[in-house]
Amino acid sequence: LEAKEEFSHKTLAMDVMRPRRSDPPLSVLTQDSMTVEDVEALIADTSYSGFPVVVSHESQRLVGFVLRRDLIISIENARMRQDGIVSTSRIFFTEYTPPQPPSSPAPLKLRSIMDLSPFTVTDHTAMEIVVDIFRKLGLRQCLVTHNGRLLGIITKKDILKHMAQMANRDPDSILFN
Ligand code: ADP
Repeated sequence: LEAKEEFSHKTLAMDVMRPRRSDPPLSVLTQDSMTVEDVEALIADTSYSGFPVVVSHESQRLVGFVLRRDLIISIENARMRQDGIVSTSRIFFTEYTPPQPPSSPAPLKLRSIMDLSPFTVTDHTAMEIVVDIFRKLGLRQCLVTHNGRLLGIITKKDILKHMAQMANRDPDSILFN
């Protein structure tokens, strides 16, 4: 992100974040209710670089962020090397794993691959500030919340695309503010 490219003051995080209103919802992981096969299906069905982890679909409270490549490697490794890990094993991003009923398969603990404090802004944050944070912290993505609930995600590419669009539409607003 080049320093010369500036945003008009009016653009907010909600204008740049995905999903758009017409898009399918954000692809998230839940902290303790998905199985190995659920997560493998999510990986197969999407190509996103990462997934926010939430407490539950109902709460949409953000717990952390997991990179796609770390998920793939950890699940592959666990399936090969860890006793009792099967498709129906439940995945836990929580600190503690509740005791599993005797008949259920071994749980897979993946808290160690989760970023526990992914960068977050609210939907009303000015994009000017978001861009500044991306530059200064070298971020690849940033999550967007409203009243503590996860709403969306902004990647570096989303910002670049938005800048290009703004430049096409109204070059003056980019050059002179
Ligand atoms: P990039 O923007 O660099 O291509 P991604 O492949 O991760 O990075 O994201 C592609 C698009 O999907 C971006 O517009 C991004 O905002 C969006 N996106 C990223 N992660 C998710 C996700 N977990 N659920 C829904 N949309 C996502």
